[in-house]
Amino acid sequence: MSPATIVRVALVVFVLAWIFGPYELRSAVPVLIVFLIALGLELNFLISALRGTSAPRPDRKPQEIDRARYGYDGETDDLVLVRRHGEEVWISYSGESAEEIEELIAETENSPAELAEPAFEPDRPSALAPVRQFLVGLGVIGALGLAIWFVENRTGWDALGGSTRLEAVERFSEEASRVAEKPVEIYCDESRDFVGAVQHADGVAEVGGERAYLTPEICLDLYRLAFDDEVRGSQTARAIAVLAHETWHLRGVGDEGTTECYALQSGVEIGGRLGLSDETARQLMRQQLAENALRTGGSVEYRVPPECRDGGSLDLDAGSARFP
Ligand SMILES: [Zn+2]
Repeated sequence: MSPATIVRVALVVFVLAWIFGPYELRSAVPVLIVFLIALGLELNFLISALRGTSAPRPDRKPQEIDRARYGYDGETDDLVLVRRHGEEVWISYSGESAEEIEELIAETENSPAELAEPAFEPDRPSALAPVRQFLVGLGVIGALGLAIWFVENRTGWDALGGSTRLEAVERFSEEASRVAEKPVEIYCDESRDFVGAVQHADGVAEVGGERAYLTPEICLDLYRLAFDDEVRGSQTARAIAVLAHETWHLRGVGDEGTTECYALQSGVEIGGRLGLSDETARQLMRQQLAENALRTGGSVEYRVPPECRDGGSLDLDAGSARFP
């Protein structure tokens, strides 16, 4: 397989995974950057292919190695190409007269057969081939871009009607206001000015403020739950947890670990109000708590503190033996 083919196959596999795969991939890797890398590689292939074909035509005279092999002293003699009986013959010429040349030709014809072989001419690829290849690459990138655009428009948050989105956002704001214990507004950041790939965050809220912004993906999962009773496992759990997390920031909690601890507890109530059974809501938030313990590296500040346990100082419902 050529490098160009490998790049294209890899791009197709990635885009399929991006469209159909886990939500984590979608939120972690901005697809535009992947397309830009693919475009850069295609350009690179084009440029190096164009450089390769513009190399000078091979010298048709016998090569140095052949001269040595067939006994020409390369420096002093001129070589004359003579066509006899449709075959090309090189003879060594150093100022001989016409008759002598005839003799030389006769000698050559009598002896080495190798010299009578037609000169080697490599198959040169057409100069347009790299451009054609590049256009194929552009076509692949364009088709995949269209596929993503189509899928996003048909299935994404943006595909919902304006009034549906408004209704959904009002519902999210209502639930958030209940937990924040004051009127707050939830926005779905369609233009991704505040949240999304760049910030590596699913939501943004000002501590103690009145507005929080969620990514369209989180909003869509909340919408699916609240309006279509559609539960998508950990994806739905994450969406509830993000809404609850930003809500606790609005309520005034700044520390990320503490905020997340409160969020996973309030998430049980929010999930229940959006349509989950109490048992499912608890199970989803417990899963989120278990996954929280695995957080490392850049997201380690979101890890809940040790006091985030049943009976701990961060337990919002100290009276019950359930957590969250
Ligand atoms: Zn936060």
